Amino acid sequence: MLQATNLRKEYGSLVAVDDVDLEIETGEFATIVGPSGSGKSTLLHMLAGHLEPTGGRITLDGTDITDTKPQERPTSLVFQSWALFPHMTVRENIEFPIRTTGRSVDGQVEELLEQVQLDPEIQADKNVSELSGGQRQRVALARSLAYDPDILLLDEPLASLDYVLQKQLQRELADLNVELDMTFVYVTHSLEAALVMSDKLFVIDEGDLIQTGPPEEIYREPNNKFIAEFMGDAN
Ligand code: ADP
Ligand code: MG
Repeated sequence: MLQATNLRKEYGSLVAVDDVDLEIETGEFATIVGPSGSGKSTLLHMLAGHLEPTGGRITLDGTDITDTKPQERPTSLVFQSWALFPHMTVRENIEFPIRTTGRSVDGQVEELLEQVQLDPEIQADKNVSELSGGQRQRVALARSLAYDPDILLLDEPLASLDYVLQKQLQRELADLNVELDMTFVYVTHSLEAALVMSDKLFVIDEGDLIQTGPPEEIYREPNNKFIAEFMGDAN
């Protein structure tokens, strides 16, 4: 279980994440949802270890990882596809993280590409610059999976894609979470996406966690006007 206790981030006088407590079970698809500027990325990047909290602790199965370096955590952050090496092939982009973990690359690229619904025979040796936006985002996902993480952290990875492709990739991510039995922590401003994909939702506004629960429960019984209105917008 991934647990945050009183997790806090201040940027000068701005409290971006205000003493947030969260618990995410192993294998769960957890979604942090809230409007733009509510502190979602800040929260996720603290879980990833790229951003140092101002206060609070993060534990994984009871072990404190608050001060553990990102590369020493069992987490992997899915970046937007622009973070791929554009001058390299798909294979080279994916082999890079596999090598950094000291594993053999044999057969791995093929397996990872199949997991993200790309045909290795057609795509593996293409240059990233030859791919469509959706294909690039799939490669970015494969590259994050290539670190062999226990927890995959996704910060609005589909934001740049068209609506139909977003819907399709949302379904694929939900399937992948089950297939790989990996914990997913997904960040989005779209409640519609959050309701479709998640086992558990964390609704955040202005740095405060305002409701936590399964999507059905939050949908049925929004605990304040803000969530109810936000829900209204999602329909
Ligand atoms: P979200 O991902 O929900 O859009 P962010 O976590 O990016 O929200 O930002 C939360 C708040 O913190 C916003 O008010 C944003 O302007 C502010 N913020 C984010 N990063 C920084 C930073 N590096 N320095 C100062 N303020 C920041
Ligand atoms: Mg953000």
